[in-house]
Amino acid sequence: MFKDIATPIRTKEILKKYGFSFKKSLGQNFLIDPNILKRITEYAGLSKENAVIEVGPGIGALTEHLARTSGKVLAFEIDQRLLPILKDTLSPYDNVKVVHQDILKADVRELIKQELSDYKDIMVVANLPYYVTTPIILKLLGDQLPINGICVMLQKEVGDRIAASPGTKEYGSLSIAIQYFTEAETVMTVPKTVFMPQPNVDSSVIKLTKREEPLVKVKDEEFFFTVTRSSFAQRRKTLLNNLTSQLPDGKKKKDSIIQALESVDIDPTRRGETLSVKEFGKLSDVLLPLFK
Ligand code: SAM
Repeated sequence: MFKDIATPIRTKEILKKYGFSFKKSLGQNFLIDPNILKRITEYAGLSKENAVIEVGPGIGALTEHLARTSGKVLAFEIDQRLLPILKDTLSPYDNVKVVHQDILKADVRELIKQELSDYKDIMVVANLPYYVTTPIILKLLGDQLPINGICVMLQKEVGDRIAASPGTKEYGSLSIAIQYFTEAETVMTVPKTVFMPQPNVDSSVIKLTKREEPLVKVKDEEFFFTVTRSSFAQRRKTLLNNLTSQLPDGKKKKDSIIQALESVDIDPTRRGETLSVKEFGKLSDVLLPLFK
């Protein structure tokens, strides 16, 4: 077995060897605790039959654990300075492909076709750059990629919002957008001390397991997401107030909106946070004819 990259001593050696300085703007907080990395790969449920997509390999701390426990790793790294370092640190592994691309701009579907066509089961596993956590997750889910799920480290506050249940203060349009496509659970909370440099926020690891079918069947997905976002525009307002102020010509259509809400047994004075994803599905279907 090779010496782990993710120990404080080895990480410092690598950074020194290459004169590497962290870029805060790229969310560079590297993991320096092999136990946490082992636990992340265990939670991801990997085997040699799986391929993994990693976002932001950094100096390879998580990547090498993924290489050991899965069939192949496809890693996207935006920072060119890390490429020669990764070539060196990952040289013991022949099942890693690092691509120098911004994950938000990459054609992930095409790269899966090129690099992972031998694999049926693909997981995304990463210690995400915190400045773009939500756009990355939404892109990976919204693009309908052939992946089974996502197991990632992120800022605890965002993880709590993603996995939140109705009726809690964390529950909102982000919870719905993600739970629509996946079953979401927080699998562990992580102290700041396992990173170099330490981030300002607490972290957690969440696991999102892709559903065979979205949680609710809706007539128009785009409108469903418009309705959910509108319903949480101002959390203190009632559902009716948010819908009339956010949807086009909502104020003029107030009476029809009340009727639509009542037709599916949703009290217009409720707040968005009390509605389940299924209720939002019913609501968007009855509102659809008024707006499209
Ligand atoms: N995986 C490493 C670890 O756990 O030690 C590094 C994780 S660090 C939190 C985030 C990594 O994502 C950095 O290497 C950073 O350069 C990279 N990154 C930031 N934005 C990115 C983007 N849009 N696309 C791909 N990689 C990105």
